Amino acid sequence: MDTWRKLTAKQQPSWPDAGELTRAAAELRSYPPLVFAGECDLLKERIAAVARGEAFILQGGDCAETFDAVTADAIRNKLKTLLQMAAVLTYAASVPVVKIGRIAGQYGKPRSKDTETRDGVTLPAYRGDSVNGFEFTPDARIPDPWRMVRMYHSSAATLNLVRAFTTGGYADLRQVHAWNQDFVASSPAGERYEVLAGEIERALRFMEACGTDPEELRSVEFFSSHEGLLLEYESALTRIDSRTREPYNTSAHFVWIGERTRDLDGAHVDYFSKIRNPIGIKLGPTTSPDAAISYLDKLDPHREPGRLTFVVRMGAGVVRDKLPALIEKVTSEGHQVAWICDPMHGNTFEAPSGHKTRRFDDVLDEVKGFFEVHRGLGSHPGGIHVELTGDDVTECVGGGDEIVFDDLGTRYESACDPRLNRSQSLDLAFLVAEMYRETR
Ligand code: PEP
Ligand code: MN
Repeated sequence: MDTWRKLTAKQQPSWPDAGELTRAAAELRSYPPLVFAGECDLLKERIAAVARGEAFILQGGDCAETFDAVTADAIRNKLKTLLQMAAVLTYAASVPVVKIGRIAGQYGKPRSKDTETRDGVTLPAYRGDSVNGFEFTPDARIPDPWRMVRMYHSSAATLNLVRAFTTGGYADLRQVHAWNQDFVASSPAGERYEVLAGEIERALRFMEACGTDPEELRSVEFFSSHEGLLLEYESALTRIDSRTREPYNTSAHFVWIGERTRDLDGAHVDYFSKIRNPIGIKLGPTTSPDAAISYLDKLDPHREPGRLTFVVRMGAGVVRDKLPALIEKVTSEGHQVAWICDPMHGNTFEAPSGHKTRRFDDVLDEVKGFFEVHRGLGSHPGGIHVELTGDDVTECVGGGDEIVFDDLGTRYESACDPRLNRSQSLDLAFLVAEMYRETR
């Protein structure tokens, strides 16, 4: 299980005190799992349906969760946004939606540079709340392994509330209007959603009048996910499943390998090859068709349905050029994987104000390109992976409420990459639903 330790692990913090690291990891090993292996298997089945072309993945949440944002309001707003998007996709595209949050564990961040310089002062880069502090002071930026323990507790508290919300009545489809209440008057996307919610409500009343009241509508299946970046944390939460004697990462249902840590001979690919969860790997524009096959061979040697999801993040400008060869190669080899589109990470740029931002239109265009490529090849566009928040932040430009560069400073709260706000997220869901309908 621990063979990754002999390999090169990119993007790991330089923990200053090995003894503290060992003690923090031991503490983590003593804790109960956050998810059960059986739930991971269920998600694998759901993703297998996606790979067969029978369902669609909606994966979304913060770029970087923060400890301070583990509040009832923030969690509920994110969940509400995802539930609204899922309702739009399920109803308008008539497809079962597999809901996966970038939530309850998305605390570690890979960085393109190890240091950050401001006004001539250079400090270690912020690597996520699981490693060091966001504040630009020498103290805050020292990696502290006990932050991984706090990551566990924050994930547990988040997941507990998410489970309560999704099974305790809040996610009941009869609440389809209620999720929109605070939003309807303030945004065109909210108004559009209101019309759709009305239709869903009528359909529900019709079913009730016919004497049917399915249990499936009373709660939703919701899964957690994060980038499996910090191998000390991920391996401390890896447990042997008592039913199957197989190792599972019990810190989330789904974990993925990021673009910066997907070296074929690196520690991350090795660690991921050992766990039995459904897993993802980000594929950027430099991925060759042969590399895609090598990932399959290493991570999914038995070609198990639902095991591997390719999360493509090419950039709007290149997705139409680069994606076809990958899909053709994987398909010609006879395997079905879930292909999902991350339209965020290939489209980041710096605004004149210095804020990292993304254009809503680029995000949309990458998803469009993704759908066009799949339609051309007869393969299945299996889902989207987006960075979003339930709050009305101003981090990405464009969208129905037309955020412009000058607005970015108004409410820019992300600790890392710019997220779609609630109205941009809903806009996106409507547009993706249309695209999906057109590919059918
Ligand atoms: C992310 O998902 O926040 C991320 C860093 O993505 P990528 O690995 O695709 O760059
Ligand atoms: Mn990000």
